Amino acid sequence: MSSEPPGLKPEEEGVSLRHAPEPERFLVSDLCAILETYLEPEEIKTIYRAYLVGADAHDGQLRASGEAYIYHPLAVARILAEMHMDADSITAAILHDVIEDTSVEREYISEQFGEDVAMLVDGVSKLTHLKFDSREEAQAANFRKMMLAMASDLRVILVKLADRLHNMRTIGVLRPDKRRRIARETLEIYAPIAQRLGMSAIRRELERLGFEALYPMRYRVLEASVQRVKGQRKELMHKVEGAIVRRLEEYGIQARVHGREKNLWSIYRKMRDKHLSFSEVFDVFALRIVVENKDTCYRVLGAVHTLYKPLPGRFKDYIAIPKANGYQSLHTVLFGPHGIPIEVQIRTVAMDRVAETGIAAHWHYKTGDEHSNAAQRRAHEWLRTVMDLQHNTGNALEFMENVKVDLFPDEVYVFTPLGEIMELPRGATGLDFAYAVHTDIGNSCVAIKIDRHLAPLSTPLQNGQTVEVLTAPNARPKSAWLNYVVTAKARHNIRSFLKNIRRQEAVEQGRLLLENALAQKGYRDPELPETLAAVLEELGYAKPEDLFFDIGTGERLPTVVAARLLTGRETPAGGDSDSPLIIEGAEGMVLNFARCCTPIPGDPIVGTMTAGKGIVIHRAECANVRRISDDGRVLSVEWSPDLDEEFPASIRLVTRNERGVLARIASTISSQGANISGVTISDDDSMASTINMVVEVRNRKHLADILRKLRNIPEVMKLIRALG
Ligand code: MN
Repeated sequence: MSSEPPGLKPEEEGVSLRHAPEPERFLVSDLCAILETYLEPEEIKTIYRAYLVGADAHDGQLRASGEAYIYHPLAVARILAEMHMDADSITAAILHDVIEDTSVEREYISEQFGEDVAMLVDGVSKLTHLKFDSREEAQAANFRKMMLAMASDLRVILVKLADRLHNMRTIGVLRPDKRRRIARETLEIYAPIAQRLGMSAIRRELERLGFEALYPMRYRVLEASVQRVKGQRKELMHKVEGAIVRRLEEYGIQARVHGREKNLWSIYRKMRDKHLSFSEVFDVFALRIVVENKDTCYRVLGAVHTLYKPLPGRFKDYIAIPKANGYQSLHTVLFGPHGIPIEVQIRTVAMDRVAETGIAAHWHYKTGDEHSNAAQRRAHEWLRTVMDLQHNTGNALEFMENVKVDLFPDEVYVFTPLGEIMELPRGATGLDFAYAVHTDIGNSCVAIKIDRHLAPLSTPLQNGQTVEVLTAPNARPKSAWLNYVVTAKARHNIRSFLKNIRRQEAVEQGRLLLENALAQKGYRDPELPETLAAVLEELGYAKPEDLFFDIGTGERLPTVVAARLLTGRETPAGGDSDSPLIIEGAEGMVLNFARCCTPIPGDPIVGTMTAGKGIVIHRAECANVRRISDDGRVLSVEWSPDLDEEFPASIRLVTRNERGVLARIASTISSQGANISGVTISDDDSMASTINMVVEVRNRKHLADILRKLRNIPEVMKLIRALG
């Protein structure tokens, strides 16, 4: 075994994170002493340099306890050093508060200690900004995911956990309200993250400290109960341990045997959630036996089974079949003296380290180490399963070389202004957010604020941002919105709104057309004829809107319906002359502009009624209009004088084949403030080409200006406005 075993002396639970009131001040020299056991001298020098920078930057700042601030980052670095984390993590730990609290900037850290360290420090600062204050379980889960999603590098999380651990160890000096908030956050957010990363030692300590700070009374009562039971069982426990140690000696096995304690928080939670009494929860003895190598684990198993009978069905071999998070151990339950069950875990030193420090253990192995491949493979597997990753994030080697894994590649987590967390798919925009909040908010939104700055609705959201939606009562969804939403909800709502609008507009237009037709026949009453009800029934409509809709969409001719309504009525003499329908633009979707002749404002136009399409506007001179024989189908229409839209116009050019002609044409058109929305080119022969273009123009004058400029291009031989 080439990884260094931390020795076989008996230890308290938590290999490296023993909690004790910190005896005396932990100094940078103490840190270096730990680092010397596993880092290169060069790396330690860099860390020492970071210490000098940090001490200088924090100079004069005090913690709530009254001690110099630098002792906090130093203590955080120590926690990571005890887990044998890499040099960049330790450096980042020492500098983790400088961006936030001092004048040192990210660029400086990057220059001095490299981009990786700068990225880690920056990542930790970002997490420090997040404050969790909701008590809902679902929100806690989302908050945890948000934190993990924001940390582009897992080491950011590890530094943050160590930071939180030290803050918890020193929480006693804070005001009670602050203490409770931080304790709750620790129990709901940080301890579960530590658990997910398999870091049992940190998790247990965070839970114990969090429990103590949040419920001091319950903590004390429970602790006293545990001490009492331990006292009662002390003799028995001692006897069992002694028997096992002697048996192992007989077998010639060197091992560390020690009792395990269930942590208070998990006892408390079990009692609370399952309504159990203390004695029901705290009912078993638990022992852990740690040995040098894997083979010995099985020999230990045999040895203890000869000493006490195993409980049938309780043996588990997590060495042969590790848990998803890389945990390995043999589990068995023995019939102890007086029939008391004894839970036994048997594992190697390396397995113990993985069980205690989880993901951090995987940084411990150097490349080429006999364990590194298996550990890496397991770490990778673990991330995939434990983190609910949807995608494979590459192979094992890639994982260790580049720990910048995107833990939630498919999601983005943002806050509402009230601090609620919304989960959206990656790439979601402000508009998706608006619809996620509420359909009405989406339908009436005009802009968003991201972290209090105005931003367009189409802005893609980033993890951790606070997003606010600005609405206006007259705002309406636009079809262009469909281009920049990614959620099904937003898309569906925009579509259904537009469809609804289309129906409304068709109904209004149909009514207008009918009134027009009636007026042409001399009917001048603002109310529709009283024959309406009878005609509706005859034609099979439930309500007038349905009839209007069919007229608006061209299913029924307004003149025919008008005639029916007026049957039997006296037609007043001198029917009204033609009062044209005013065309306000393309907004109403039951109005279409014919593609054959591309009418633009200023052109004389007529409307035709086409079933299913509603009114189609053609240029008056269009050949297709003349083909429509039935007079009743042609409507008189007119452009509204205040149109502010662009319309496509087709033009055709014949040019000499010379280099750069198309570019000159395009730049001429754009210099006139028009866009080209379509081009097709056909080579007539080697000398000339025909270019068909669709140009977006405001009106006839705008088009005429463009055509005039195009004629000035020498290569343009022929130029016409195309007509279907
Ligand atoms: Mn800190």
